[in-house]
Amino acid sequence: MTVALAFDYAPAPETTRPHIRDEYGLFIDGRWTRAHNNRQFATVNPATEEFLASVAYASELDVDAAVKAARKGYEKYWSKLTPAARAKYLYRIARSITEKGRELAVLETMDGGKPIRESRDFDIPTAAAHFFYYAGWADKLRYASRNGADALPLGACGQIVPWNFPLLMAAWKLAPALACGNTVVLKPAETTSLTALALADIIAQADLPPGVVNIVTGPGETGRALVSHPDIDKIAFTGSTEVGKQIMRSVAGRDIRLTLELGGKAAHIVFADAPLDQAIEGIISGIYFNQGHVCCAGSRLLVEESIHDEVVARLLRRLQTMRLGDPLDKNTDIGAINSAEQLARIQELVASGVAQGAQLHSQPFSAPDRGYWFPASFFTGVTQSHRIAQEEIFGPVLSILTFRTPDEALSKANNTPYGLSAGVWTSSGSKNMWIAEHLRAGVVWCNTYNRFDPASPFGGYRESGFGREGGVHGLREYLQHA
Ligand code: NAD
Ligand code: MG
Repeated sequence: MTVALAFDYAPAPETTRPHIRDEYGLFIDGRWTRAHNNRQFATVNPATEEFLASVAYASELDVDAAVKAARKGYEKYWSKLTPAARAKYLYRIARSITEKGRELAVLETMDGGKPIRESRDFDIPTAAAHFFYYAGWADKLRYASRNGADALPLGACGQIVPWNFPLLMAAWKLAPALACGNTVVLKPAETTSLTALALADIIAQADLPPGVVNIVTGPGETGRALVSHPDIDKIAFTGSTEVGKQIMRSVAGRDIRLTLELGGKAAHIVFADAPLDQAIEGIISGIYFNQGHVCCAGSRLLVEESIHDEVVARLLRRLQTMRLGDPLDKNTDIGAINSAEQLARIQELVASGVAQGAQLHSQPFSAPDRGYWFPASFFTGVTQSHRIAQEEIFGPVLSILTFRTPDEALSKANNTPYGLSAGVWTSSGSKNMWIAEHLRAGVVWCNTYNRFDPASPFGGYRESGFGREGGVHGLREYLQHA
């Protein structure tokens, strides 16, 4: 792989290799089974385009078997256990994720393209932290109830996760559902199923009763079969706003609980009185973390006009030092784009930015022969009407706009159909409080960005969806009347 870098550095590739089977089945009723007609699809490493494994393609019949297993698992086993017994299983899963952390991190990076430093230091430990956190809640559920009602589970839940944080999103969904006494059918994303399948092994080793967790792999069609299954009590979905809307239409009129965590176009506001060194690092990690495949990425930078030129100059310098390349290299900042489809989406939106008159700045980069790559980039000269200011790029591309007054910053920040997250940098405490209160976003970070904790709720407004994951709020989404 030849990637032009601004300076030389010694590669530090991760040498651990997880065991990857040639073929993976579906995990239903505590057993591995083949998909109906033995249908399969391939998952590849997006940095090399190399084949990693064949994964089962679950049909409607397979989804039906998984839902039946979840129903049986609920009625026969999981709802009969004491809350403390359920907690023990969750602690086992959490410990096992921690013990296998290194293999899981490498697997996540190989299947999805994210830098190993991120999967090692963020995705996998945070996934374990979610299981630890919700294990602690399992025997304290009555404290989750706001109205004194009994904390009763919902039943069998369908959960659909995206490809940007595969194991972490699975943990966000599974841990609270199981802690509350629900059983689950989980569908990972088609480009990144392997860590969810490794989690199935962990769940089997933890000796969870059969049917409590079922994992069905496949594309959107498999997800659609899960959503339209009549015997599901809840659907939890993370992914695109477009599919979120389809799901809402498809469950209309049914007695079903629904939570949607969809896209975002977060405003990241930098006032002239901000601590600039920290703000620049916040901007960089806010947009380039996980190649910008982040629903809460700080993708719309609003800079106070008086410091615009300085911020741009510093960001340009910072781009020169970013390392793009082998995701398994511990020095890599920007890994591979998750799929050819996602790369095409990014390229199309970036081309629209250029065509509409914005100026594109990118890190030095020459595309390797294989794999899917896009350099860390930002646009200056962006106006609110540009598509790159409105639509989610979901790649390492920042759009920079300016403002003159706090009111203007706020109105530009809220001028979006989304409402997932936002960030603000200022040395003024009162300005921080004022803007956080008026931003229409589910999460607002002040003088920091992309901080996550299992105890802290996450979720959006408007076209970013509804419902919360994390904290006690995340539990209530899996309890009746809570
Ligand atoms: P997507 O919404 O199509 O896929 C997300 C998950 O939903 C996957 O598991 C997929 O198989 C499943 N799915 C697809 N169609 C479905 C359907 N009709 N019914 C049920 N499940 C279905 O997302 P994508 O195509 O992978 O990405 C497209 C865009 O979505 C991205 O460019 C980005 O803007 C956004 N996105 C957002 C998030 C997020 O975290 N909010 C994650 C991934 C993608
Ligand atoms: Mg893959």
